[in-house]
Amino acid sequence: MSKVPEFFGSLVFDDRVMKANLSAKVYASLKKTIDEGAKLDLSVANTVADAMKDWAIANGATHYTHWFQPLTGITAEKHDSFITPSPDGGVIMEFSGKELIKGEPDASSFPSGGLRATFEARGYTAWDPTSYAFIKGKTLCIPTAFCSYGGEALDKKTPLLRSMQALNKQALRILRLFGNDTVKCVRTSVGPEQEYFLITREMYDQRPDLRFTGRTLFGAKPPKGQEMDDHYFGVIKPRVAAFMEELNDELWKLGILAKTEHNEVAPAQHELAPIYTTTNIATDHNQLTMEIMQKVASKHGLVCLLHEKPFAGVNGSGKHNNWSIATDTGVNLLSPGETPYENAQFLLFLCAVIKAVDDYQDLLRISVATAGNDHRLGANEAPPAVVSMFLGDELNAVLEAIENDTPYCDAEKTQMKLGVNVLPKFNRDTTDRNRTSPFAFTGNKFEFRMLGSSNSIACANIMLNSAVAESLKIYADRLEGVDDFETALHEMIRKTIKDHKRIIFNGNGYDDAWIKEATEERGLLNYRTTADCMPHLLDKKNVDMLTSHKVFTVAELNSRYEIMLENYCKTVVIEANTMVDMAKTQIAPAVEAFTLEVAKTAAAKKALDPSIACGYESNLVKRLSALIDMIAIKADELNTSLTELTAVDDIGEEANAIRDIVLTKMSELRIACDEAETLTAKKYWPYPSYADLLFGVK
Ligand code: ADP
Ligand code: MG
Repeated sequence: MSKVPEFFGSLVFDDRVMKANLSAKVYASLKKTIDEGAKLDLSVANTVADAMKDWAIANGATHYTHWFQPLTGITAEKHDSFITPSPDGGVIMEFSGKELIKGEPDASSFPSGGLRATFEARGYTAWDPTSYAFIKGKTLCIPTAFCSYGGEALDKKTPLLRSMQALNKQALRILRLFGNDTVKCVRTSVGPEQEYFLITREMYDQRPDLRFTGRTLFGAKPPKGQEMDDHYFGVIKPRVAAFMEELNDELWKLGILAKTEHNEVAPAQHELAPIYTTTNIATDHNQLTMEIMQKVASKHGLVCLLHEKPFAGVNGSGKHNNWSIATDTGVNLLSPGETPYENAQFLLFLCAVIKAVDDYQDLLRISVATAGNDHRLGANEAPPAVVSMFLGDELNAVLEAIENDTPYCDAEKTQMKLGVNVLPKFNRDTTDRNRTSPFAFTGNKFEFRMLGSSNSIACANIMLNSAVAESLKIYADRLEGVDDFETALHEMIRKTIKDHKRIIFNGNGYDDAWIKEATEERGLLNYRTTADCMPHLLDKKNVDMLTSHKVFTVAELNSRYEIMLENYCKTVVIEANTMVDMAKTQIAPAVEAFTLEVAKTAAAKKALDPSIACGYESNLVKRLSALIDMIAIKADELNTSLTELTAVDDIGEEANAIRDIVLTKMSELRIACDEAETLTAKKYWPYPSYADLLFGVK
């Protein structure tokens, strides 16, 4: 294998390839579209398409696809070959600008939440030239947005791009107020840290729960779990190392900046972090990373689990969304600067984020809501379902000084006056200590930690960008046209701190006392489940904010509300059906067979010598028999609760019934089965145990 710099991005139609394969004029025109969103004319598109096709064919491609991110959470593609019949009976390879710019997947079965009547089920995909095309297998993949013919977004990409646009617009207004006329564009960047589990394919295949739902629905606690914390940053096992090596190569070829890899806290759990990049590209890359992780794992006889909580009682997997705002001139607006003026600007952007997170706690919670993540948020290794922010002691002291007009406690005890003082440097050590906060400032970026490992990062960033755009809009509206900018700015920052300091919490987010304080004293929201938070997507304040920035239309919000709850309900119903099936057809019969063997053993012993007490056998048979009864009863009750669901019409009510009844019945059935597992001889148990799964990869 050649060296990394030589093959990095070799499967990407990136800037290097464009420069090499396009005329200077076409390149300049395309670059204007990429950098400034200028409209591309068809003749340029034709030339680009032709160059793309030639490059793709030279790299082994035979097909192309418009690659998009429907609301199912995964990516979608429909492959068309480049072939066109030629008059001599052969074929030529063709690809036009029209085909590059617009596609019409017959996508009637993608969820649309009622946005797309079936008679015009087609919808269309539109090229996103800001994200490079790439080759996967034998297919040229063109990143696209997916819309209905009415113009409504049917994907996650479109609102993400709109939210970036909204933030850009408002951030530029603010920068102009600070006298900055050179910046043309402000973009957010994201570096998502991706956690995952690796288990052996052989064991995975033996568990219907993993195959159908991605998580274990049964499983007694193993003798050893993660108590020793000996896996974190531990030596990577050879088989895992081989997987990581191939994964990196595949990602690098696709131009994905895979950087850090290590073992995580739970056994069999690992993490991969790329170097951060522009948010829409980071989103595409993260989707690809998840896909390629699964593909490479399968080549190594492994399965990559991306579920948020594959094992009860063991850490789940999250995705940390490291987020910052930067200008096209390379300035990170969340980084304290060198001059007092830069610092005032930094504090304003910081306050915009504080206000955004407090005002739109609900939207942030909603953006990470899935049936899977509900099991993780609030378990003892993940952030709670309560959103709060960590700023670190130093920055906190600065904010307090501003709020109270008191001296900031640095060596000189100077009064904090914006535009006058230089801020202290916040070094990483003092900002990154708190790992329990859902939303932590880490020196020059925020780390939003509530995302589940399988979530698309699009959702969280849509809400984050929009909410911050709203804060900035309010600030810009207030500051534009004031006579004394500095005083007005100072007052506004003070007011933000006063009004929103309840969202700042520097203590232990995993502590129960915090949840009590957060909800009872500070009035913060605690939406424990998807069913609890989802209806708030349609709260007036949220609809007003998201529509005013043109991130969503009302119809799109309604459809997303439906789809999210539908996903939640379907996910849990599949889990419940899988449980009933496993309990009835495999677990109960296994326990029954083992019970019979124990009973037979006792009978044989008695036959040999009636004075043998057989207390062990007799107690075991009694307990196992009770458990079999319990399993049968609980499986039936669960089944009944599922039947009753079919009578519920409203999706919100269905979700509530799932939360209150189905999930409770599932956990009751599980308790009986898990106890039976601890009492049943291993050779009778139909599934690999937690210990097998977690310690099975050598
Ligand atoms: P950890 O959180 O594990 O200590 P780091 O903070 O070094 O690791 O990086 C985590 C992720 O944050 C990486 O993907 C990194 O590229 C990303 N990151 C670093 N700086 C920024 C930034 N300014 N904006 C967005 N993401 C960033
Ligand atoms: Mg991190």
